[in-house]
Amino acid sequence: MIIVMKQDALRRQVEAVIDLIEKSGLKPVLLEGSERRVIAVIGDERTISKSNLLALPGVAEVLDVVKPYKLVAREGHKQGSIIDIKGVKFGGPEIIVIAGPCSVESDEQFLKIARDVKASGAKVLRGGAFKWRTSPHDFQGLGLDGLKFIKEAKEETGLLAATEVLDPRQVEVLAQYTDILQIGTVSMQNYPLLRECGRSGMPIILKRGKWATYKEYLLAAEYIMAEGNEKVILCERGIRTFETETRHTFDINAIPFLKAETHLPVFADPSHGTGIAALVPAISKAAIAAGADGLIIETHYDPKHAASDAAQTIATDVFTKLMQDIRKIAPVVGREF
Ligand code: PEP
Ligand code: MN
Repeated sequence: MIIVMKQDALRRQVEAVIDLIEKSGLKPVLLEGSERRVIAVIGDERTISKSNLLALPGVAEVLDVVKPYKLVAREGHKQGSIIDIKGVKFGGPEIIVIAGPCSVESDEQFLKIARDVKASGAKVLRGGAFKWRTSPHDFQGLGLDGLKFIKEAKEETGLLAATEVLDPRQVEVLAQYTDILQIGTVSMQNYPLLRECGRSGMPIILKRGKWATYKEYLLAAEYIMAEGNEKVILCERGIRTFETETRHTFDINAIPFLKAETHLPVFADPSHGTGIAALVPAISKAAIAAGADGLIIETHYDPKHAASDAAQTIATDVFTKLMQDIRKIAPVVGREF
């Protein structure tokens, strides 16, 4: 059950609703978004009466949500959520592009790429400082130095920044250097991390686990929202299939499925989704045509020498051309860019 409060509901009216939920032996989750304030009821809803809730002052609607992911389901939030991060609106009419190298390599490298992606229309800079690598002998990221370079580049360019968080103990520190925390594919079911990210109140990009079903994925998003954090952005980043020619198989179905099933913004990451730079422009365009709210793209001025994910990293000129193509596709699918 989702209780939608009226726009002008008073704090004490919200508290009265929470009180009734608690007195009924249920758990209330208050979500205070920029557009609306809702209270989700978690537990056996038979102990609470819908008409009693509707009779409380300040209550606009009471919605039944049958899906197991109560907070992320579109059933409880017909209009898609728009997540406003310092004026950049995720999930609105505008396509948002998040771009940068896989890893932060140096202050010069990161600043140069930041300026290049900004010039082509990206609103958010990406780059890993703490990397999750298959081999412990591979480059693990610059750590704290990397975070400092992220902060410098974002302040210098005015772009937002997103970086991956690997460990619940890092959340607080990372929040001081970046605007958005990214939860990588390998961490999608790291429930303590999801909870900590939820508690942080920071905007979160939650990548889909490369093995995860849509249900498992949406329940992972539910963990973050269950801590009262509404700022969750989903991202299809490819799944593991029998195909070995590509690194992953970008699941285009996920875009319209997730858009219909949830109210959260849905992004596409064709870089990890394919693992092959030559495929990235086509899959990026397909994702936008399929209804994605934005893209996450790995790009570098010297992709061959990128410290990680070189094979899927597109060169600056390819990125620039892709942005021009997205500009042409966006209005055809009713979007702005
Ligand atoms: C990344 O964005 O560089 C990354 C590691 O992504 P994923 O978790 O999707 O592999
Ligand atoms: Mn990468």
